[in-house]
Amino acid sequence: MGQAKFRAKQIYEWLWNKGVDHIHEMTNLSKTFRDTLASEYEIRTITEDKVQYSNDGTIKLRYKLFDGHLIESVLIPVVRENRYTVCVSSQVGCSLTCSFCATGRMKRLRNLEPGEIYDQVKKVNDLCLQQYDHPITNIVYMGMGEPLLAYKNVLGSIDKITSPMGLGMSPRRITVSTAGIAKMIQKLADDNVKFNLALSLHAADDAKRDSIMPINEQNNLAVLMDAISYFYEKTGNRISYEYITFDNFNDSIEDAKNLAKLCRRFPVKVNIIEYNPIGGVDFIKSAQDRLDNFARYLTDHGVTVTVRRSRGKDIDAACGQLANKD
Ligand code: SF4
Repeated sequence: MGQAKFRAKQIYEWLWNKGVDHIHEMTNLSKTFRDTLASEYEIRTITEDKVQYSNDGTIKLRYKLFDGHLIESVLIPVVRENRYTVCVSSQVGCSLTCSFCATGRMKRLRNLEPGEIYDQVKKVNDLCLQQYDHPITNIVYMGMGEPLLAYKNVLGSIDKITSPMGLGMSPRRITVSTAGIAKMIQKLADDNVKFNLALSLHAADDAKRDSIMPINEQNNLAVLMDAISYFYEKTGNRISYEYITFDNFNDSIEDAKNLAKLCRRFPVKVNIIEYNPIGGVDFIKSAQDRLDNFARYLTDHGVTVTVRRSRGKDIDAACGQLANKD
């Protein structure tokens, strides 16, 4: 546009670092230049549509995209540990139909643009500063959608989040979670990414996993373990399994044995998550003693386990509950 080179840096900073919503807010550009820019470009930022506060401090945000679609992000503060995690969405809806997940019942409408994923992080970070006087410390790609099916856009958003001219966050504080797409896990390794990988495992044998996660039929556990092993060898990045326990479905000692077997090939941490009921599904959460025995078996067999209590259940903000409900 015939402008000096440093203007590009100024605009980049307004867009990503300061996160302005309108070109007219770029006050170090001349009024004429702002008018010209505004006549040719628009900032397709996300706008806050609804905020819900849980009794436990969790905040769920619903955002409207430029084309009217809605997505959700969640801020999960653990104040005493100085941990402020944002959970972001990567797609509008999801194509994977995992049976325990409310998002899986919505059709996948489109992938989010890198900027739309970045904006969730930026806006939740601003909210976190406002509410807790602290920036976010961790980002998890565990909201609506399967991040590895929006691969390019997810990596594009992480580029901006980690760029010093964006949010300057360390990739070690970012975890991308997948329902298990082996080919794309290998691609992450080949692209030498620096962030952590989480596999939503939820069952440690193929028959059970097939029954709750149809994606397992083309990406069975053997294939997934090969892919993750490859990822670990190439990157050395942290790996975790997410495992929701459902009463009398995947929480027996036999299940724990199968899970322990999947923890031998590479260092991995298991996060056991309490199930959050959604309507129309027969599963209930594990009884406390079953959960305790399951977790104890794993720890006794050398597996690193964290049992996570669910957060934000009262506002449908917990794992598997994001579905743009009013
Ligand atoms: S659990 Fe994840 S991959 Fe499965 S349906 Fe829900 S959003 Fe999609």
